[in-house]
Amino acid sequence: MNAVIVGGGAAGMFAAALASEAGIGVTLIEQNEKLGKKLFITGKGRCNFTNDCTPEEFRSNVLTNPKFLFSASDALTSRDVIDLFESWGLRTKVERGRRAFPASDHSSDVIAMLEKRLKAGKVRVLLNTKVTDILTEDGRAAGISYVQSGRRGIIRADAVILATGGLSYPSTGACGDGYQFAKKLRLSVTKLYPSLVPFNCKEEYVKDLQGLSLKNVAMTVRSGKKEVFGGFGEMLFTHFGISGPLALSASARIGPLIGQKELVTRLDLKPAVSEEQLDARFVRVFQENSKKALKNVLHEFYPSKMQQVIPKIAGIDEETRCCDLTKEARGRLIHATKEFPLTIVSLRGFGEAVITKGGIAVKEIDPRTMEAKSCPGLYCIGEVLDLDAYTGGYNLQIAWCTAAACARALAEL
Ligand SMILES: Cc1cc2nc3c(=O)[nH]c(=O)nc-3n(C[C@H](O)[C@H](O)[C@H](O)COP(=O)(O)OP(=O)(O)OC[C@H]3O[C@@H](n4cnc5c(N)ncnc54)[C@H](O)[C@@H]3O)c2cc1C
Repeated sequence: MNAVIVGGGAAGMFAAALASEAGIGVTLIEQNEKLGKKLFITGKGRCNFTNDCTPEEFRSNVLTNPKFLFSASDALTSRDVIDLFESWGLRTKVERGRRAFPASDHSSDVIAMLEKRLKAGKVRVLLNTKVTDILTEDGRAAGISYVQSGRRGIIRADAVILATGGLSYPSTGACGDGYQFAKKLRLSVTKLYPSLVPFNCKEEYVKDLQGLSLKNVAMTVRSGKKEVFGGFGEMLFTHFGISGPLALSASARIGPLIGQKELVTRLDLKPAVSEEQLDARFVRVFQENSKKALKNVLHEFYPSKMQQVIPKIAGIDEETRCCDLTKEARGRLIHATKEFPLTIVSLRGFGEAVITKGGIAVKEIDPRTMEAKSCPGLYCIGEVLDLDAYTGGYNLQIAWCTAAACARALAEL
């Protein structure tokens, strides 16, 4: 039994390690000059490789097709991944939000650990080698063709595993070849979107707020009357719009809705304080500083960049003396604070996206084995599938558990 794995990223390396351990002859093909280029940049170079949660919690953080992962994520839980990596010599730690990292804080240690397993399993690794086609015989996957330093070649195999990843961060080798191979084999590929990605916003004032990072903000997005996203956390204003964990989470939910109806976005800058409590604070501070201009007391309520923007949104001259601020003016300040308006115009592109939403349709794939139903011998694992999750280690968990399901299926053949 021999297998060719296309793509030496997280899913490809893990599948190669497990399949070779089970006695399968594995060739792992990577177009880059080294393995795991994307893995290297994960978790800001620290690699948040999984989330130490139950399979149910894992699936509740998977946004697209969580049910497809029932079998794979029960068979290889996050805990199993942590234990397995520890048994392979990687010291690990679990941080806030149950995010698991290598204890060294170096993603390179995760790559080195996987490379060691490839060596132990005598995996044949071909670098700087681009797969150009999937070969079939009698409707079965039968090998691949490739190009290496201008030379073309063919490798025949009993199984071909597509682990080509998505489209995000093209500098890591994400080129979308897997989708093209799948389409050529008549597998359907759903629409592709950048996800876990910042937003471009319409309002000019985001430029004034550039660099401002806010903690404990509540964000809601409505499409018509329907709330399509509600979240709480940290965000960052940029020269084009908004970024940071909260914005990225919102993008995963509302990305596909952009361009349909207008998405009305509101930030609650003070979610822990009710409108009445905020008004009482305004009244007190304005009374204590009655002769001062509004602009000279706003530091009591807002970070410095926000102090210039809030009066503009509330339509109040910042030179207005506090004693001249009416109840109605205070109401407008409250509104600007609790319903800070932003208009999401578009997503930033794949170049800035953590993951790709969309991919090879899971209805085409056997969820226990990852084998394509219409093309025996072809397996699809990792981000190339129409699966995506929130940040927190869940996306790599998708890569590990789909790779393990495939390796188990190969071992049973
Ligand atoms: C900046 C950033 C940070 C991230 N941080 C985290 C995190 O901390 N935790 C988390 O869970 N997830 C994180 N992710 C997401 C995670 O990296 C991906 O979900 C994961 O890498 C997907 O694994 P994969 O093996 O499917 O694809 P990849 O890791 O992208 O690997 C695919 C490989 O296939 C190769 N390839 C493609 N086509 C061909 C071809 N024709 N021939 C040969 N080789 C080919 C590519 O060069 C690439 O090396 C992050 C992503 C980014 C961009």
